[in-house]
Amino acid sequence: MYDVIPLPYSYNALMPVVDEETLNIHYNKHHKKYAENLNNLTNSNIPLEQIPKRIDEFPLKDRGQVLYNAGGILNHNLYFQSLNSNFSLPKGKLLNKINNDYGSFDNFKKIFINKSKNLVGSGYTFLVTDNVGNLTIINLPNQETPLSYDLIPLFTIDLWEHAYYLKYKNNRNTYIENIWSKANFDHASKTYENLF
Ligand code: MN
Repeated sequence: MYDVIPLPYSYNALMPVVDEETLNIHYNKHHKKYAENLNNLTNSNIPLEQIPKRIDEFPLKDRGQVLYNAGGILNHNLYFQSLNSNFSLPKGKLLNKINNDYGSFDNFKKIFINKSKNLVGSGYTFLVTDNVGNLTIINLPNQETPLSYDLIPLFTIDLWEHAYYLKYKNNRNTYIENIWSKANFDHASKTYENLF
């Protein structure tokens, strides 16, 4: 059985940037639905993180939906771990690499925000690393995961309308800017530190 991670904080933890109703619906309805859909499609024992690279082990007719729903779980697990009630800067090797490649965290943040503003349609902006530690900021559509491209996702912002629409309506750029006050790089820093 595939499952989502427990939400790492309460439904009001991201207020006022993300309102309680949005977070509740996002986690309990949208996120859990990807797991429900995936379990209805397959009883595979392939670990969730390996599904994108092993998609050819699923029946051809199911691959599109398996990949979509596995991506939905993986991307939301990362999104919820990329936020917290208090902002936290990257640490250790990740902070050093960001400072080295982008000049400063503030410049990195500016480039990430501009990337988010340029996404067309539904998707995510990710900070990813390749298998030797090179960082890149990328946009991917829908529920595509960087794992499909041999990239390891470290941090992400969900840009689907359901992530912000109740509060921000058509003002996606305001959500894109405000969400950074809840950005939390603890998970990203740990992942990077353990890899390199
Ligand atoms: Mn979402």
